[in-house]
Amino acid sequence: MRFYSTKGNSISVGFKDALFHGLAPDGGLYMPETIPHLGIDFFKSDLSYPELAVGMIHPFTKDDLTHAQLTDICELAFDFPLGIKELNKTDSVLELFHGPTLAFKDFAARFMARTMSYFLENKDNELTILVATSGDTGSAVANGFFNVEGINVIILYPSNRVSTIQEKQLTTLGGNITALEIDGSFDDCQRMVKAAFQDHDLRHRLFLSSANSINMARLLPQSVYYAWAWKQYANNETVIFSVPSGNFGNLTGGLLANRMGVPVEKFIAATNANDTFPHFISSGTIQHQDAVQTISNAMDVGVPSNLDRIQNLFHDDVNQVKVDIASWSFSDKDTKESIQNIKNEFGYLIEPHTAVGVLGLNKYRNETNSKTKGVVLSTAHPGKFADVIEPIIGNKTALPDSLQIAMKKEKNSIKMPNQFSDLKEYLLQSD
Ligand SMILES: *Cc1c(COP(=O)(O)O)cnc(C)c1O
Repeated sequence: MRFYSTKGNSISVGFKDALFHGLAPDGGLYMPETIPHLGIDFFKSDLSYPELAVGMIHPFTKDDLTHAQLTDICELAFDFPLGIKELNKTDSVLELFHGPTLAFKDFAARFMARTMSYFLENKDNELTILVATSGDTGSAVANGFFNVEGINVIILYPSNRVSTIQEKQLTTLGGNITALEIDGSFDDCQRMVKAAFQDHDLRHRLFLSSANSINMARLLPQSVYYAWAWKQYANNETVIFSVPSGNFGNLTGGLLANRMGVPVEKFIAATNANDTFPHFISSGTIQHQDAVQTISNAMDVGVPSNLDRIQNLFHDDVNQVKVDIASWSFSDKDTKESIQNIKNEFGYLIEPHTAVGVLGLNKYRNETNSKTKGVVLSTAHPGKFADVIEPIIGNKTALPDSLQIAMKKEKNSIKMPNQFSDLKEYLLQSD
């Protein structure tokens, strides 16, 4: 399988190059040249989660990884459970937060780490992964790559702008993970990382790669749980998926699953106040806007990077997009009410991102009267957002064991000004 650039000005590459390069040289995102249709019998058959993953991912990776190699990778990457919580006869929540960092990003980060380490075996030079984070991505990447041989991870995060829990998750692993605490904003961190990739000395001296959300290798594993949910829950009918969305990588994974053959009535792209996508759906135009801060902060994205991929999948025709995807934006006030309502009605605790997804499904039901079974993707454990949730429900939330352990550990970060020259000096002296 080859992967082409959405901008169309770079030559296509194989899976391995798409994995290590992330972005195409022309600045476009990589897309697979074809999406194989696997047939409904494949999705109906009795498969473990790793087997399902291998079946869906192998067509994309078979030029670079044998079936047996991919099986090893998937067994190591997807070694934690998923859950489906049925709220009532038609609505359920797909719990994607039982991985090590308690967010759905573990699926992609663990797959990517294991795959990269596979390709690095028998290579002498160590790979350095540079990643800028506003919170969740960094901890999923750090955990995914923790103790993976031949890879060092350097995380840049904005000082005082991530939650206490997130900071502990980033700074307490040690080993091959280094946290750089940048005196600046997330944008500064991103700018420094980008500059590092463009710097000739660094590229010459170090083997650098990134792990951010535009990497094609993150989308493939994000298609698998849609199929898993359908198998568990749909009784061979179509389903509705409501996806709380920021950069739209999760939703794009769902679109891939649908093209591979998972029967879907509609995808709902539920956003917070950052409403570029719902605006695009209703008007057909993309308005570039700055991100605004909300309580579902992992979705505070001005212009979603995977928008290019979605447009590409639908041949730049917004009317085709609308056939498959409905989209609405919800305020923080709506989100808080949703958390409260789900708690009161079902005794079930959800965090702000998942609450946006619940609002999306409810809105769709109101607009269409559809009684088709609906699945809300729950992207994080409520314990990660205790500071937002506790004032709403008026109770303490229980912190899962893994977070309690991290909270007790000593923070270990290297403070750094928001200048690229400092990052460069650090990278060269630690080489
Ligand atoms: C990253 C993230 C999202 C948004 O996912 P995208 O793929 O960027 O749309 C939603 N919820 C949580 C908890 C996240 O960490």
